[in-house]
Amino acid sequence: MDEKRELLKNRIVPLDIYRITPKTNCGDCGYPTCLAFATQAVVGENSLDACPHLDPDALHPLRERLERQLGQGIGKKRESFEKTLEFLRAEVSRWLTPANASAVGAEFFTLEGGEAGLRLPYWGDTVVVTTSDVISLKGRALSPWEKIFLYNYVVGGAVEPSERWVGMESLPNSVSKIKSLRAHCEEPLAKAFADDASALRAAASGLFHEVETAQGEADWVGECDLLPKVRLRLLWWSADLQEGFPARVKFLFDARVLETLDLESLLFACEQIVERLLEKGRRARED
Ligand code: SF4
Repeated sequence: MDEKRELLKNRIVPLDIYRITPKTNCGDCGYPTCLAFATQAVVGENSLDACPHLDPDALHPLRERLERQLGQGIGKKRESFEKTLEFLRAEVSRWLTPANASAVGAEFFTLEGGEAGLRLPYWGDTVVVTTSDVISLKGRALSPWEKIFLYNYVVGGAVEPSERWVGMESLPNSVSKIKSLRAHCEEPLAKAFADDASALRAAASGLFHEVETAQGEADWVGECDLLPKVRLRLLWWSADLQEGFPARVKFLFDARVLETLDLESLLFACEQIVERLLEKGRRARED
């Protein structure tokens, strides 16, 4: 395979850069959010050095690949979220039907001008999906990633969950994502709440409901209704200082989840959840 094809196949996307930022939206780089920084860095509009807080170990290999990628003209300017959204907006039109609304657990409607849309619950909010946009009825600004995530959910339908819970390692073709889930979701969460399980419970309230599971499965199990047909579970084990075991976190998914969402979307969902829990934990500590 020539260099350009190899780079294209494994090209760096904004999510790869976003993952190595601390996600604090501090603004030191001149952008209001880490997401905006990542989006611009991947198209060569700003240098990775503009953020002084990137994980240095992860930065080195990424920088080298990004320089090669941009040197080949890959990803410059046009290759962005907008392009993906444009594609999905066109694609979603044939999924905005009463039959698909029922398949994905949404409500079908038509606007006065005849434009069709779906209204569906999304993690404590309600969103409206049309060919023009995805909007939150609570007035929350949805990031381009959330819009892509929600379009992805609607396009292609959804299946009924099997009610069988599995770790990501049991999902097909997940090898490359397991490490990311651990490094960007499970470990930061375990570290942030290591000595305070009650703080995790407090951060999770309103987002997760506690579920009873087989004794000994974990010290705490929470379930989150992310979308009508997508639920996630979070398992928490407190640190055992006497035995020298650190706190541990694990995400579980429905065994059929990949028939509804792709792996990248699933990882994105976990990252959003973790970000929200960490933010709530931070705010609680500051109060
Ligand atoms: S300087 Fe880094 S951490 Fe701060 S907003 Fe920019 S990307 Fe995020």
